[in-house]
Amino acid sequence: MAEVESEPVLHIVNQPKVYLLGRQVIDEEALAEFLADHDAGHWATDTEIGAEKLIETAGRLCYMSFQRPRPGGNKAYIGHLLAVGHGSVLEHAVFNLLITGVSRSLTHELVRHRAGFGFSQLSQRFVDESECSFVEPTVIASDPELHRIWVEAVQARQAAYCALADGLVEKYRHIDDKTLRRKMAREAARSVLPNATETKIFVTANARALRHFLEMRGDAAADVEIRRLALAVYKLLEREAPNLFGDYRLVDLPEGGQAVVTEHRKV
Ligand SMILES: Cc1cc2nc3c(=O)[nH]c(=O)nc-3n(C[C@H](O)[C@H](O)[C@H](O)COP(=O)(O)OP(=O)(O)OC[C@H]3O[C@@H](n4cnc5c(N)ncnc54)[C@H](O)[C@@H]3O)c2cc1C
Repeated sequence: MAEVESEPVLHIVNQPKVYLLGRQVIDEEALAEFLADHDAGHWATDTEIGAEKLIETAGRLCYMSFQRPRPGGNKAYIGHLLAVGHGSVLEHAVFNLLITGVSRSLTHELVRHRAGFGFSQLSQRFVDESECSFVEPTVIASDPELHRIWVEAVQARQAAYCALADGLVEKYRHIDDKTLRRKMAREAARSVLPNATETKIFVTANARALRHFLEMRGDAAADVEIRRLALAVYKLLEREAPNLFGDYRLVDLPEGGQAVVTEHRKV
């Protein structure tokens, strides 16, 4: 009887996951020392969120307005910055996000955001992708026939990747350095992997840049997958720093899903 080769298991991902790994803290002693050095009184604000407090401190420094703050606290202060478009002050707040469960096509769009962003992404040259996951668009996953076509296509590409990686390692057997040999094999073999290949990316961005990202990628016109990521990032940041991101709201779209809107675009 002929031996039947078992198909490798296909790992399919449907949702992005966002981990907030880093947030800022303010050094209260240094702030108190600065205020004392400059006869600026005992200014205190009403937020416990480092990002929000740093922004208010930076904004108040511009006019040395620590002594007689207007009522309304940090929410009103940041609200005013958003209303008048003093966006540069928002650059002092930085968040570190680790994002998984997204496709290479999504990250190709994400890394187009240049101003105020830093990226570190999983390397397809160093990391073996023979058992990687793939991100299936929801519209395809919900249709049995389209899902079947998608699975067949992705499985074929993954099988080709594995065969090419094995063949290339063999072709490069004269190279003694095992890490270099594998890297050279994987960098060529990855050329057949699809846009749907799952990736992981570490993103550091300031609040001004993140707001611009939410507006561009949370918009109704954005690609469905990156809009879903933008919504997840928005929900996380809104919980984390409501005075900074609380002006956004979600609206239902006629074709399903939601978009992020605000009256303070691109501050
Ligand atoms: C719905 C949608 C469709 C898209 N379609 C395409 C497409 O078909 N093809 C394509 O290539 N891209 C496309 N993009 C990507 C888009 O063109 C931008 O590259 C991406 O959204 C990043 O926006 P940005 O440049 O404003 O952001 P950032 O790079 O983060 O820049 C933020 C802001 O800083 C300023 N800035 C940054 N760099 C400079 C600079 N060098 N000079 C002057 N000002 C600067 C600008 O005001 C800019 O808006 C699309 C984006 C969306 C949301």
